[in-house]
Amino acid sequence: MSDAGRSVVMVENPDGAGSFVIVCDHASNRIPAEYQSFEFANDALQTHIAWDPGALPVARHLSATLDAPLLWPDVSRLVLDCNRDLDVRSLIVTESDGRPVPANVGLSDDERSRRIEHVHTRYHAAIDACIKRRTASGRAMTLIAIHSYTPVYLGKSRPWQIGIVFGEDRRMADLLIGELKSDPSLEVGINEPYSPADQVYYTVERHSGPLGLPAVMIEIRNDEIGGDAGQRGWADRLANILVAAVPRLMQAKHAAA
Ligand SMILES: [Zn+2]
Repeated sequence: MSDAGRSVVMVENPDGAGSFVIVCDHASNRIPAEYQSFEFANDALQTHIAWDPGALPVARHLSATLDAPLLWPDVSRLVLDCNRDLDVRSLIVTESDGRPVPANVGLSDDERSRRIEHVHTRYHAAIDACIKRRTASGRAMTLIAIHSYTPVYLGKSRPWQIGIVFGEDRRMADLLIGELKSDPSLEVGINEPYSPADQVYYTVERHSGPLGLPAVMIEIRNDEIGGDAGQRGWADRLANILVAAVPRLMQAKHAAA
């Protein structure tokens, strides 16, 4: 069945009354009709190189619990990675986790521009519009990005069940890390398995940095969220910490003022 014309940008609960905005850059492994002629390998589309398995259900549970807007591109990162700046090589990969992606080899400049315009520009414009609307209505806001990662990458195991990724603004990250570390059964990655130096902090930095919004990127190892129980469990756990963090963030803001 053709899906031509189906949007590549999804916005759920746009008028949610909570104080969070959630983004899920790698939610989908869909190849829209426009890109099917590139013949992305079907088995690759089932793996973490095409998307973040489990991340969208976690983001959706969080969106419901926090009454937060949720924005995500309904297109595989193999077409274009929305969480990359335009001049970064991994924007459109020709290999990932040691696996070649022949569908992206030898793309013309026109095709790259078309993908940027069709996917990247639209997705980030939708986040801009959401944040602008909420800013105009005077709402306090915190930006949360939900990702998942593979337990083994380039042959190396990742011990952390969850990783908190942050840049200069540590407000949300410190609150999350403090709470998560109180559970001795958890290994919490601090700027692991990725950090902003890996050029993976684009969406959060772009949309929170200039406005000074508190923000954080949350990475969950995908074997933790392979099914509904794990997805709900992690979403509930994170929602509890995030809700408790809001008054503390406000206090810190008043103390600093
Ligand atoms: Zn991701």
